[in-house]
Amino acid sequence: MHFEFSPEDEAFRQEVRQFFKENVNPEVARYSFEGCHPPPREVLRQWQKVLHARGWGAPHWPEAFGGTDWSPLRKHIFLEELVNADGLDYGWQGTHMMAPVVIAFGNTWQQETFLPPLLAGDTFWCQGFSEPNAGSDLASLRTRAELDEAGTHYIVNGQKIWTSDAKIADWGFFLVRTDTTVKPQRGISFLLIDMKSPGITVRPIISIDGGDGLAEVFLENVRVPKEHLVGEPGMGWTYAKYLLEKERTSSAFIYFNKRELEKAKAIARLEKIDGVALIDTPAFSRRLAAIEVDILGLEWSVLRILSKETLRDNIDAVVSTLKVRGSELQQQVTELQIDALGPRALRFYDHGPNRKAHEPSAADELWPAYVPGRSNMYFFQRASTIYGGAREVQKNIIAKLAFGL
Ligand SMILES: Cc1cc2nc3c(=O)[nH]c(=O)nc-3n(C[C@H](O)[C@H](O)[C@H](O)COP(=O)(O)OP(=O)(O)OC[C@H]3O[C@@H](n4cnc5c(N)ncnc54)[C@H](O)[C@@H]3O)c2cc1C
Repeated sequence: MHFEFSPEDEAFRQEVRQFFKENVNPEVARYSFEGCHPPPREVLRQWQKVLHARGWGAPHWPEAFGGTDWSPLRKHIFLEELVNADGLDYGWQGTHMMAPVVIAFGNTWQQETFLPPLLAGDTFWCQGFSEPNAGSDLASLRTRAELDEAGTHYIVNGQKIWTSDAKIADWGFFLVRTDTTVKPQRGISFLLIDMKSPGITVRPIISIDGGDGLAEVFLENVRVPKEHLVGEPGMGWTYAKYLLEKERTSSAFIYFNKRELEKAKAIARLEKIDGVALIDTPAFSRRLAAIEVDILGLEWSVLRILSKETLRDNIDAVVSTLKVRGSELQQQVTELQIDALGPRALRFYDHGPNRKAHEPSAADELWPAYVPGRSNMYFFQRASTIYGGAREVQKNIIAKLAFGL
């Protein structure tokens, strides 16, 4: 394995970096910096339009659909630079989850109807998989979709929970049970549902960071045209697995971890104890170094997968390891920021329904610009070892695949 990027990839990095330098406006940067879940829809819409105008609205899609056909390494560089520049890295449910499934298994009508408005920033999506009694054990989901007598519409009844961004979503991709007579995984289908349909109720869940991005979604006799079923009935489980496998390395949250580590360092350079910068105190610098080493190790694991190095271990076990380590580091690095802030971390910055990006004054010595959002982010990251596959479940996968237990 080479330890350097090629000159072409480095040139590409400079091009991307320059673009973000010129196009990430202060409002976008502020929402990203504060880690709002979600930022206002209009801010997201305008930001997506900026990316789309440059042809980078969904770089990971095939070129034929408006993507780029970049190599995995270039997509990695792009995302690293985007996150580093505090560009908004949001709305993955549509671009990274629904779209790859519709591209691979949807029909031409679905591709032409749903992909262009998403790319242009005019529609937002949510993911309706989890239910009150079906999270880790997703195959036991109970939301039912039955064809009506005319055979033209599915009638959907049930409840979803923890649906991120349901409140700003125009559409949702849902896993629903269309057949109760076969084994659980075989009776699940993948349905695209208009969130404005009669019978849908979205009830926000306020999370520990004060955000209102999560929701319960109730579906009561919701009529969904049959044309909105992706692929074959009963194949939803296979498609869901496909979408989770598409982004094998994203579970490491490497871009987030690197950026937040730099923020922790920046805070520790400015915060002082008895006139000494925190970063120069042995206890703090030792802790910071330990986390930095772990992040570097994680980054190399990601790069190994991206450069298609032959792996000694089962790839699915490696991906689960990335998720476990990446999510733990998300918690450690945000905790480091909180500890660096000391009492300043105690102030609550409202990320609820009426929030605005905070615009601290440079002259505000008590609450400098690096304070807002740090504790919100710390609290939100408590969930990182749960969403996208809970830690214990990932460890079960590792035990099974890597060690045959
Ligand atoms: C912030 C956030 C955003 C989310 N966004 C979405 C979204 O947009 N769409 C969506 O569909 N879902 C979403 N989820 C839901 C998420 O996928 C589930 O929370 C997750 O899969 C865990 O399921 P659960 O909450 O039912 O917990 P459970 O599965 O009930 O797990 C509870 C605890 O038991 C442990 N456990 C479970 N099974 C085992 C086992 N076999 N062995 C050992 N331990 C086990 C788990 O590790 C966990 O600690 C989100 C969750 C969060 C927290």
